[in-house]
Amino acid sequence: LSQRIDAEADQECLTHDKCRMALYVNAGLSAEIEATQFVNADGIGLYRTEIPFMLRERFPSEQEQVELYRQILLASPEQPITMRTLDVGGDKPLPYFPINEENPFLGWRGIRLTLDHPEIFLVQVRAMLRASIGLTNLQIMLPMISSVTEVKEAKRLIDQAFFEIKDEVKDMDVLLEKPRLGIMLEVPSVLYQLPQLAKQVDFFSVGSNDLTQYLLAVDRNNTRVASLYNSYHPAVLSALFDIVKQADANHVPVTVCGEIAGEPGGAILLMGMGYRKLSMNAHNLRKINWVIRNVSLEESRQLLMKALTAHTHEEVFSHINHYLEHRG
Ligand code: PEP
Ligand code: MG
Repeated sequence: LSQRIDAEADQECLTHDKCRMALYVNAGLSAEIEATQFVNADGIGLYRTEIPFMLRERFPSEQEQVELYRQILLASPEQPITMRTLDVGGDKPLPYFPINEENPFLGWRGIRLTLDHPEIFLVQVRAMLRASIGLTNLQIMLPMISSVTEVKEAKRLIDQAFFEIKDEVKDMDVLLEKPRLGIMLEVPSVLYQLPQLAKQVDFFSVGSNDLTQYLLAVDRNNTRVASLYNSYHPAVLSALFDIVKQADANHVPVTVCGEIAGEPGGAILLMGMGYRKLSMNAHNLRKINWVIRNVSLEESRQLLMKALTAHTHEEVFSHINHYLEHRG
């Protein structure tokens, strides 16, 4: 089977009944960026900028960030590259910026930290914008959004950075495009504000890893409660289904970039719900491409309908396994 998957890896990702699914890569390490070159992806759906920050001994300068981001944007200038602003805190510490909190996952994380330190945010956004000069593929994404206020505040800072850079290059004959802006949907509060958030941004991306953690109140890294952490919990599946319906109704493109998008059963369920863009680790992409090409939308909807009747994640798994075994 793995030989067949590899042999067909270059084929366009169409469902069995010819619906186009876009597959993107999640990356952070330079090896993951390199791996993107060897898979048939539609772009980078999530570039975790905190990874290069975590590997250093101090904050990278604006110029260092420009060079890093430029390389990534240039690696596939025709494809969208979604750069997420710094998502530190929680499970992702910076060695040179210690945060001591009793409850880090509910604390100073992601956009909360960078809005409290606009100088960090502005340097990063300025670097992204400078890196994108002459290119049109940069998209910026904000992590851990829990309110409209945070989005408005971040937009104000992004505008400020944009006008600064525009002014700096005004005598040069260069193209500087305003990047498309998106937010991560990973804090449950946003599920109840999607129409309001839709007015503020160009795209949504569901962080199902954190959405699972926050919806179920289960620390995603605590082994003691690991058995309770499950993205196939019926409540999580209902949330994912609700998000895509609301995103479609508000005409905002939506991707899923958590782990569930890179799992065969998860990808089929998401496809049945109506998701058409999935972002995953490069090493899962060929497999998911193959799975999608062998499943029709109708079949994925049938599996979803069964999964939605389940009362527990074990029952969801049993529907998925039954389907996958039946399909060979
Ligand atoms: C997520 O939360 O699902 C996600 C993709 O972001 P991260 O895993 O980096 O928190
Ligand atoms: Mg997350």
